[in-house]
Amino acid sequence: IIDVREVWKRFGNVEVLKGIDLSINKSDVTCIIGPSGSGKSTLLRCIAFLEEYSEGEIYIEGELLGFSLEGGKRRRVSDAEVQRVRRNVGFVFQQFNLWPHMTAQENVAAPLRLGRGIGPAEAAQRAGAMLEKVGLSARANAYPSQLSGGQQQRVGIARALAMEPHIMLFDEPTSALDPELVGEVLQVMRDLAAEGMTMAVVTHEMGFAAQVADTVVFIDEGKIAVSGSPDHVFRRDPNPRLRQFLQNYF
Ligand code: ATP
Ligand code: MG
Repeated sequence: IIDVREVWKRFGNVEVLKGIDLSINKSDVTCIIGPSGSGKSTLLRCIAFLEEYSEGEIYIEGELLGFSLEGGKRRRVSDAEVQRVRRNVGFVFQQFNLWPHMTAQENVAAPLRLGRGIGPAEAAQRAGAMLEKVGLSARANAYPSQLSGGQQQRVGIARALAMEPHIMLFDEPTSALDPELVGEVLQVMRDLAAEGMTMAVVTHEMGFAAQVADTVVFIDEGKIAVSGSPDHVFRRDPNPRLRQFLQNYF
């Protein structure tokens, strides 16, 4: 469902991704781990085309993202075409990015109205259903400042889910949260995984990764250094950089 082939990303002459190959199958959960600065966020941002990748190919449900290869030449396609190919990809960030002047309900409904042209009544109804899914029906009329961090992040997830994505990308969704609020967000993500959502999750929550991931990918200095089952990556693979990295967690 996602195919990343030999993807490079440079900022100026700094190489951040150095030939990433990654396939994510439908309904799979892929957890991405690795040291700070290794390129985890950049990879997710390239998959969402929030960054233009410098080389290689990213396919979303079989369609090349961001470029055309007609006549063997790589050409950037229009923004509208980018939007079309990534419309089934949802993104949840570390920072919740909610609009402070809108209630939880409006935060979820607004992108449906503005981005999808859905009428206000239907948008409100879908927003309500999504807030219920993340356990926030009772807080639908609260403003972000009246919500805990965990609740705000659950609104962020509801907002992404309202767009009916086929694939959800999470970039450290719990790392801005107080420890006691992490669990409620991970539970929503667990439920999503159990429903068969295809997910790529950058995380430092190794317990979550061990429990939920089908594949764990260790990125180091812009390359995938290790990839495999949680058992393989957490307990068996001998890569010394991986072992050293994991020492901070186990
Ligand atoms: P962290 O765990 O700290 O979130 P990360 O693995 O997500 O780290 P990235 O944010 O992908 O790392 O950054 C990888 C490298 O790319 C870093 O060295 C960073 O400074 C660099 N980088 C990221 N975005 C830009 C940018 N817009 N311009 C220049 N360099 C960038
Ligand atoms: Mg990051």
